[in-house]
Amino acid sequence: MSHQWIAERMAHFDSSGIRRVFDLASQLKQPINLSIGQPDFDVPPQVREAAIEAIREGKNGYALTQGMPVLRDKLQRRIDARYAHADRRVFVTSGTSGALVLAVMALLDPGDEVIVFDPFFVMYPPLVGLMGGRCVLVDTYPDFRIDIDRVRHAITPRTKMILFNSPANPTGVVANEAETRALAELAAERDVVLVSDEIYRDFCHGPFTSPAEFNEATLVIDGFSKTYAMTGWRLGYAHGPNEIIEEMIKLQQYTFVCAPQPAQWAGAVALDVDMQQHVADYRRKRDLLLTGLDGVLEVEMPGGAFYAFPKTPWGTATEFVARAIEKHQLLIIPGNVFSSRDTHFRISYAADDETIRKGSAVLRKMATEGA
Ligand code: PMP
Repeated sequence: MSHQWIAERMAHFDSSGIRRVFDLASQLKQPINLSIGQPDFDVPPQVREAAIEAIREGKNGYALTQGMPVLRDKLQRRIDARYAHADRRVFVTSGTSGALVLAVMALLDPGDEVIVFDPFFVMYPPLVGLMGGRCVLVDTYPDFRIDIDRVRHAITPRTKMILFNSPANPTGVVANEAETRALAELAAERDVVLVSDEIYRDFCHGPFTSPAEFNEATLVIDGFSKTYAMTGWRLGYAHGPNEIIEEMIKLQQYTFVCAPQPAQWAGAVALDVDMQQHVADYRRKRDLLLTGLDGVLEVEMPGGAFYAFPKTPWGTATEFVARAIEKHQLLIIPGNVFSSRDTHFRISYAADDETIRKGSAVLRKMATEGA
C-alpha cells in the first residue's frame, strides 16, 4: 500500500485527543477514570428487554430511512406538543453524530463559514473541515457564556451556520434564556442556520431553553446516548424545517441507510422511562466533585451535562494532564482537545462516588503542591 492512496482531506485533522488518553489508560492497572463521556449507569432494564424482544421477534431488517413509525411518530407528537411549529419534522438517525454528519453534508458548501463556540465538542471542527467549510471560533472564556456582540462580529456574508451546544461538552455550562433567545434571533435576522445540539438537555439542573422556541428554523439534533446510556446502540434524531429534513433523509439513504431497527423499538419504550432519579444523582455527583475542588481550582459551575472544565493550576493543560496520568493514574482530558487554548481540562463526573472522591483528592494535591 502506498501512502498516496490516502485522500488529501485526511491530512487536515488528527485522531481525537480523547482516544489518545484512552490509549494511555489501557496501560494503567487501576486508573482513576474521570474521562468518560457516557453515563456510568446501564440502560434501563425495560429498554434492554424491549431490544431483546425486538430481536427475538425478528425485527432485524432495515428500518425505514426516516425511522420506524413506532419511534418516529412518538417523537413527532412530543415535538409538536412542545413547539407547535407548522413546519417542524423529525426523523431518526444513527446517533446524534449521524444527525450532525447529515446536517453538515446537507447544508455546507466549500468555503462556507461556521460559527463554533470555543471550547467546542470535538466533532465540530473536523466535520466542518471535511465539507470544505471554515470554522470561525468565538471565544467564550473565562465563564463560557455567549457574548452576542462577539457572535454578531463573527458573522460575514459567508456565514452559513452556527453550531450551538447547551448543556455543553466540555464545560457543562447551560446557556440561559436571554443568551439563547439573543442567539436564536440573531440567526433569524442574519438568515444563518442555527444547529442546536441538545444531547444533554435531560441532564440539566435548572431550566433548559432551546433556541427552537425563538427561531422556528432551528435545526435540533438530539439522541438517546446520554439520557438512557444507549451510547453503543447508535440512536439519535433531528428535527427542523421540512426542507432541511428532506435533504438529510435523502442523504441518509446513501450513507447510514437507517438507524438500527431493534434500537428503535427499544427507543420508543425508553421515551416513557423516567430518568429523573439518575439526573438528580448526577447533580449530587457534581456537588461532590465541586466540594472536593473548592478553594484549590478555578471552575465555572456546571449547570448540566456531566462535565466540569477547571483551569489548570500550573503548566499547560497538556503538561498538567500528563502528570496526572503518569504520577497519579488520574485520567482527565486536556483542554486543547476541545479548544484553541490549552489552559483548562475536562473532568467527567459520570463515575462512582469513590472515583470522584479519589480524583478530587489527587487534583487538590496536584494544585497545592504545584509543578
Ligand atoms: N454532541 C455532543 C455535544 C456530545 O457530547 C456527543 C457525545 N459525546 C455527541 C453529540 C454524539 O453522541 P451520539 O452520537 O452518541 O448520539
